Amino acid sequence: MPVTPVTYHAEHAWTGGTVASGVVIETAGERITAVRTGVAVPPPGAEVLRGLTLPGLANAHSHAFHRALRGIAQRGSGTFWTWRDSMYDVAGRLDPDTYLELARAVYAEMALAGITCVGEFHYLHHAPGGTPYADPNAMGEALIEAAAQAGIRITLLDACYLSSGFGAPPERHQLRFTDGDADAWAVRASALKERGHARIGAAVHSVRAVPAGQIAAVARWAADREAPLHAHLSEQPAENQACLAAHGRTPARLLADHGALGPRTSAVHATHLTGEDIGLLGDSRTTICMCPTTERDLADGIGPASGLARAGSPISLGSDSHAVVDLFEEARAVELDERLRTLRRGHWSAAALLRAATEDGHASLGWPEAGRIEAGAPADLTTVALDSVRTAGPPPSLGAETAVFAATAADVRHVVVGGRPVVRDGVHLLVRDVPGALSRTIARLTRP
Ligand SMILES: [Zn+2]
Repeated sequence: MPVTPVTYHAEHAWTGGTVASGVVIETAGERITAVRTGVAVPPPGAEVLRGLTLPGLANAHSHAFHRALRGIAQRGSGTFWTWRDSMYDVAGRLDPDTYLELARAVYAEMALAGITCVGEFHYLHHAPGGTPYADPNAMGEALIEAAAQAGIRITLLDACYLSSGFGAPPERHQLRFTDGDADAWAVRASALKERGHARIGAAVHSVRAVPAGQIAAVARWAADREAPLHAHLSEQPAENQACLAAHGRTPARLLADHGALGPRTSAVHATHLTGEDIGLLGDSRTTICMCPTTERDLADGIGPASGLARAGSPISLGSDSHAVVDLFEEARAVELDERLRTLRRGHWSAAALLRAATEDGHASLGWPEAGRIEAGAPADLTTVALDSVRTAGPPPSLGAETAVFAATAADVRHVVVGGRPVVRDGVHLLVRDVPGALSRTIARLTRP
């Protein structure tokens, strides 16, 4: 079937690491075919994108069902571990139908926030009690379908989750997560099929959840397919202490010793690291996925992002538990947290943070061709208003600084994914009432 060429005229666009004005973006089907800057007048028939058009944003770490905890998790006090109990309550109520409904609404919220690709770190595999569904990938398939219906790309990072701690079997709530061993995990994960909007990757949930002797099998599965491999790493000091007690080495060292670090690997959080850990991650070019809004929400701490970047690690960003879904907030938090810690400003430029939110995020999810506005890249575009009450004032040449340090998800005006308009003038074109969809599905999954 011949593809119809579509031309966009971006008032301003982030291309080649700078803000250009009057940018013509020609597309055919899913791809950008040409980019021209300095074109003041929109060509006839061009779709006009008013504001600053960025490459689509990549949300590199998501657990869609955590969205149901928004608000609820802010009552009372506690720690990461008490928060986890509430999270397990919600997990216990989901089935493939309700997960499709919830994830469609969550991914629609992401699209409205300018996110065009999500990395779903998926471990809720089986029915309560651990019985596989008739299709053992019914839950993963629900997530892939949810992304299609919400109009965004997904990398399903199918997580191996076998134990509740070092040498400890899964607890009651975790029976839904486990396949028994890494070989059975691999058989199930191998049945997942990629399609236009969906790619498949692997995850080692954490060194707590995958026994050391089985980490290499998961890493090999990903290596054989040249697929992304993700792992939660050192989010909590207690994990480090337990790992040292069980194996006499840190979680980063354990992953390195079992072949799980490298340029296709993303370590999520990497909050509590030793100097040696930072060297291992940087030297291996492992990407670090920072999730600052979740890390502050769960009282995790502040990870050494700039030290990791200096050591050689690219940085990506994730909204993880969806305390908020706002990649601009994630991006600026990387810099602002470091200011609080060091009493100095200017560790991360807006350009470097945009790179994390776009190009490096996509690479971390196995879409290395995406995240740039250039010929040959997928036509994934996110336009941010520069005339909202939050973003008005600075000149367009400071569009990147304005977007990263002042814009919110509410300033996203248009979103195009694979050449298809998904959000226009702040309205989702495929899921008409996103707040309504979130309210209905979350009310059924949570106790008041
Ligand atoms: Zn996570």
